Amino acid sequence: MILKDPDPILHTKCAPISILQGKRIAKRLREAYIEARDNSKDTFVVGLAAPQIGIPKNVFVALGDVFINPRILSVNKSEINSEEGCLSLSDVYRLKRFKSIKLTWTDEARRQRIMNLEGKYAVIIQHEYDHLMGKLCSEHAAINEFQTKIEKIKREAVEDNLKSLGVVS
Ligand SMILES: [Zn+2]
Repeated sequence: MILKDPDPILHTKCAPISILQGKRIAKRLREAYIEARDNSKDTFVVGLAAPQIGIPKNVFVALGDVFINPRILSVNKSEINSEEGCLSLSDVYRLKRFKSIKLTWTDEARRQRIMNLEGKYAVIIQHEYDHLMGKLCSEHAAINEFQTKIEKIKREAVEDNLKSLGVVS
């Protein structure tokens, strides 16, 4: 069973876990992920995070890999546009994501990994990572829309100023 927004667990910051616990949850995530993938004909399922199956712990699966206690160490501030759907939401949202991220996590073989991720892969990981922070892509979209509004107001204010100065008509 995959939780749907506005379930409070989807908005809970997840807790760190032991590797053993992480592997157990990952097994359940994989099963839920395969079931969801087989049941959704029009959604492209690429990942699933523990809170989506009701467990507020730091683990997700994405593109077949397991990420236990992942942590973003740094980001490349340039952004790319992204269109994202989520098994916990019914709409598709437009938002901005960092172009690349440096991530550390523990994998299924108990190895501590550190990697620079770019493009589509970085976007998928940021989406799943957000789930662990109790955040959904719909919230980003709302923020982006809000920022756009502020920018529009600022732009209009500048234009009004220029008009009053006779620079533009
Ligand atoms: Zn999601």
